[in-house]
Amino acid sequence: MASSEKVKQYLACWFQLGKRLFVDNGREILCPKTVIIQDKYSPEFEACWNKVLKMEGHNCYLEGVEPTIDLLLSSAWEIASCVNCQMPIPRLDLGLQASPGCPCVDIPLWPNTDLPLPHSPINNRSHLNRIRSRLNIKH
Ligand SMILES: [Zn+2]
Repeated sequence: MASSEKVKQYLACWFQLGKRLFVDNGREILCPKTVIIQDKYSPEFEACWNKVLKMEGHNCYLEGVEPTIDLLLSSAWEIASCVNCQMPIPRLDLGLQASPGCPCVDIPLWPNTDLPLPHSPINNRSHLNRIRSRLNIKH
């Protein structure tokens, strides 16, 4: 089961790549222009996230991604990292999944190792280690 914090990070990362969120089956389409200000989520992003929470994620989904947010918050799904681009992607907790599940398949020139990866305000150690290994910094 994906925690709401993880789902929030997942949305934040994809918004930074320009993916949009379809709310209420696309009746409303959201894509905050600014996701992170310094080390915090932007008010624009928080407002968007609150809207998702208010609807409990029902009929809300990221552009190009099948499972809706309420499914991601259910016990059947978790958030994993894409093997191609390390972005957070939905993964079925049990059983096999037909599609790779990562929206990176329809973003041209992604992953782009010349650009910094989208990030969440929580800079944990594993994230830093990943950046370090990308930069090939020797300890
Ligand atoms: Zn990917």
